[in-house]
Amino acid sequence: MSQRQLAMVMDLNKCIGCQTCTVSCKTQWTNRNGREYMYWNNVETYPGEGYPKKWQELGGGFDEAGDLKAGVVPSLQGEYGVPWDYNHDELASGAAFKPHVDPKWGPNWDEDEGAGDFPNDNYFFYIPRICNHCTNPGCLSACPRDAIFKRDQDGVVLVDLDRCQGYRYCIAGCPYKKIYFNPRISKSEKCILCFPRIEKGLPPACAQQCVGRIRFVGFLDDEEGQVYKLVKKFKVALPLRPDYGTESNVYYVPPTEAPPKFDASGKIIEGSERIPPEVLEKLFGKEVHEAARTLRAEMKKRKETGESELMDLLIAYKHEDMFRLDGN
Ligand code: SF4
Ligand code: SF4
Repeated sequence: MSQRQLAMVMDLNKCIGCQTCTVSCKTQWTNRNGREYMYWNNVETYPGEGYPKKWQELGGGFDEAGDLKAGVVPSLQGEYGVPWDYNHDELASGAAFKPHVDPKWGPNWDEDEGAGDFPNDNYFFYIPRICNHCTNPGCLSACPRDAIFKRDQDGVVLVDLDRCQGYRYCIAGCPYKKIYFNPRISKSEKCILCFPRIEKGLPPACAQQCVGRIRFVGFLDDEEGQVYKLVKKFKVALPLRPDYGTESNVYYVPPTEAPPKFDASGKIIEGSERIPPEVLEKLFGKEVHEAARTLRAEMKKRKETGESELMDLLIAYKHEDMFRLDGN
């Protein structure tokens, strides 16, 4: 366990699925040989199969007794999909524009598809995902080489590439499938929470560039910080799939602001919920219902009185206020 823990909160009511975060991470860290298929940050549509495909069904994490569960290592041909390029250099000779391979899957393959029938039961929302820098990381527990560690000063989970032998137990052990194998160097690689930026007092690139201002970054024990307030004071930010037992340090404000349902005459059905509550409970645990009540009550209070500390926090008037990296 690290002495302090840096955490991120993402407000899913504000994510517009623009992928700016993905591009900022990709251009900063993973546009290199062997990393073409890696998305340390990805933004997937839910309901959808995600990236890698069906990652929620690929095992890893811990059972109720605290034992590591068996997991699968996704394959490039299957769950990730082979990255492809296009035949730009053949176009001048009249060739049809086409990819070099016959793509079968990839990041954002089922973007914006969602589920349910129009007009009342259809819905989707976006889930941006990075490594959760877990307090009890499945990747770390699975590694027989002790090549994965948590930094004391901020709890960032890193791979020691000198120790890593490329066994890939870590990938099977991570239930979020947020650690990747680089075949060029035969090592595992993952999100580093932009620690070189953090050490300079800058937020991770994905948070800095976020167009929707959905990402807060700060220490979990910083009682004046927005992350502390959202996670511990108001309890409206929750970990994804807490049942995996890894104690994630990325938290989500659940998407409670989906459009309402309408009756046959086109009137709003008061109290109707377009996103089924059981879907949110599967993703964020039973606490999601209380979090939703708090969010709706504070929004009502804000509308009626003009006052709500929680709504002010979530609006995030100034982008720089969303980041407290020195913890004071
Ligand atoms: Fe390890 Fe996965 Fe947790 Fe990241 S999300 S710390 S890779 S178990
Ligand atoms: Fe969502 Fe922000 Fe990423 Fe855009 S940059 S997809 S708003 S998390």
